[in-house]
Amino acid sequence: MTTYPHLMQPITLGAVTLKNRVMMGSMHTGLEETGDWNRVAEFYATRARGGVGLMVTGGMAPNREGGVFPGAAGLFSAQDIANHRLVTDRVHDAGGRIAMQILHAGRYAYGPDCVSASAVKSPISPFPPKELDEAGIEKQIADIATAAARAMEAGYDGVEVMGSEGYFLNQFLVTHVNRRADRWGGAYENRMRLPVEVVARVRAALGPGLLIYRISLIDLIPNGSTWEEVVQLAHAIEAAGADVLNTGIGWHEARVPTIATSVPRAAFAHLTARLRPEVGIPVITSNRINTPEVAEGLLSSGMADMVSMARPFLADPDFVAKAAAGKAAQIAPCIACNQACLDHTFSGKLTSCLVNPRACHETELVITTTTAPKRLAVVGAGPAGLSAALTAAERGHEVTLFDRSPQVGGQLHLAASIPGKEEFRGLIDWFAARLTASAVKPRLGHEVTAADLAGFDAVILATGITPRPAGIPGEDAPQVLGYREVLRGAPVGARVAVVGAGGIGFDVAEYLVHHGTSPTLDAALWRQEWGVGDPAEVPGGLAPEGPRPEAPAREVWLLQRKPEKPGRKLGKTTGWIHRATLQMKGVKMLGGVSYEAITPEGLHVTVNGTPQLLPVDTVVICAGQTPDRSLAAGIEALGLPCHIIGGADVAAELDAKRAIDQGVRLAAAL
Ligand code: FAD
Ligand code: NAP
Ligand code: SF4
Repeated sequence: MTTYPHLMQPITLGAVTLKNRVMMGSMHTGLEETGDWNRVAEFYATRARGGVGLMVTGGMAPNREGGVFPGAAGLFSAQDIANHRLVTDRVHDAGGRIAMQILHAGRYAYGPDCVSASAVKSPISPFPPKELDEAGIEKQIADIATAAARAMEAGYDGVEVMGSEGYFLNQFLVTHVNRRADRWGGAYENRMRLPVEVVARVRAALGPGLLIYRISLIDLIPNGSTWEEVVQLAHAIEAAGADVLNTGIGWHEARVPTIATSVPRAAFAHLTARLRPEVGIPVITSNRINTPEVAEGLLSSGMADMVSMARPFLADPDFVAKAAAGKAAQIAPCIACNQACLDHTFSGKLTSCLVNPRACHETELVITTTTAPKRLAVVGAGPAGLSAALTAAERGHEVTLFDRSPQVGGQLHLAASIPGKEEFRGLIDWFAARLTASAVKPRLGHEVTAADLAGFDAVILATGITPRPAGIPGEDAPQVLGYREVLRGAPVGARVAVVGAGGIGFDVAEYLVHHGTSPTLDAALWRQEWGVGDPAEVPGGLAPEGPRPEAPAREVWLLQRKPEKPGRKLGKTTGWIHRATLQMKGVKMLGGVSYEAITPEGLHVTVNGTPQLLPVDTVVICAGQTPDRSLAAGIEALGLPCHIIGGADVAAELDAKRAIDQGVRLAAAL
């Protein structure tokens, strides 16, 4: 008997039967654009072997004008079809099912040829779209239907028609973009004509193939769809031939986070649950679902027929197999950080995963059994040391892992203490569970000296960092604290200056303005903070009263020397969330600051040439770090090979992504 009986139950969608109710949602990885189709096929086949019931590919452009960016992949030629055939064959050989997503970006297409319902530019694109005429609309429909027919030719089990997230079909639905007065605009029956016509034509092109339609349940933009319209559309899409409805949440231009780590788990599943009794076809729920427990809970309580998870399959291709085998604690958790997936995608880099550097690198980063086992000492059980130790042991090396702390995780404990970053706790727990199940010998609670390392064949030094002082006169005063002391609970005054506005400065500021329950752990409170209302009450689901954050716990200044807006270097897809959170809490963010002195009166600064006294009770130093390599000389004296990784190697721009990647890659090569 499985622990997740609902999740593991088969389901029939149209003519296709799936072995379980887990779908890997569509993700743009950038793999198709590399032209290495063996690599693409291996990415999907690895996940098929891991037991997922159904996968949806990254969005394929139906034509050039609809591609997300110039040169976006699509099925345009016989060669393209043959390339995709490699993928589908490999997936089917592994016992998997795969549908191709057809993604027409409309005005979100990053190019001057983009098209839409009306010539209304999106706030997130520099390109105003061309308004399509009747013939232009017919061409788009025909191209989408052709893409569906080619998907079947390429061996896919079906397609997903992307109708949400503010893309082309979604753009026709709302007066926010659709200002037309012909049969494609005006009354809702006209505005929904395009998606309904597309589904009917795709159905005809697919034959018995699976047809998934991704419907936007809450647009999170002004003048978005009403709930009544969502239901009307769902009925029409069902009648036009869709087999299943997948959930879409929020347009890309929405100023509400929808998948970031600070979004509560399953925060939008109540909307799928509300749609489910309205239609006769199954519904799939999505967004911030990352454990089998959460997924099972949604299915067992009748909120959906299936669960879609996307990023969790970057973190762990074997999610389903491990859940089915009762080994959920071994599932590498997606912590929803976006650091190696969406941030990479939006920087034009190949997607990967912070917790799993092998994601999208399956053919290049291969972990093999060693032919020459060594006795390895790993000093430091932060993410770098843990990754190196566990990978080396998996390869057959004899590994001892030391840390002065009785717990593994290193700085990840500090990250997990930030409200909105609770998911980091899952990463620590996963490392701990893997360690227990591994052959690594842990020596925790032990301050290592060079003498401990004699007798090993080699040492991996993963001792992390030492916080850097800011060098401000008066910095040794008792009201000046380091970020580590603050996050470990040191008392802090009512008015605080944070020196340094990097990732840690921002996190510390969030910690300081917060009190009570973290909104990430209380969906109702989170919705209130971000102004998420009910689409049944207000079109698009933005609360009329706007965001209503809790009052800040303290008055906080966040400072940096660079004469630019603080937070520019934060994550591409998440930086705006951190900036908006602090703005909502009244944090005063200043760039171009010179620090003069710290006195009992406060922090004396000069801002753009003007001297100022910030009347603070506490100053918190978040001025970056330097590598801690204090053991290196002793190891050298022992004559042992020493590999330095993580913060101990380079502290600048260090994050857990680099620490884990470096640890795994070193161990793979030893
Ligand atoms: P560490 O995590 O520092 O681990 C080093 C380990 O070595 C420690 O456990 C220490 O006890 C041990 N050690 C040192 N010397 C000895 C010795 N002599 N004997 C025994 N043990 C020793 N990164 C992200 O990617 N995303 C984030 O959102 C993020 N948020 C963060 C938020 C905060 C508040 C902080 C502080 C950090 C955050 N980071 C984040 C950074 C991330 O945690 C670090 O980059 C990462 O932990 C570095 O890994 P590491 O293994 O090199 O070092
Ligand atoms: P950081 O990002 O390098 O920021 C250091 C800050 O200190 C900068 O604002 C810098 O700005 C300031 N500074 C540097 N030297 C100073 C000095 N002598 N006096 C005063 N200010 C000084 O480092 P961090 O914030 O400590 O973060 C460490 C790493 O953790 C980062 O690289 C980051 O990747 C990771 N992290 C990531 C996240 C995330 O969300 N992804 C969150 C937290 C941490 P000025 O020089 O302009 O003053
Ligand atoms: Fe999840 Fe972060 Fe990995 Fe992306 S990089 S899949 S958000 S853990």
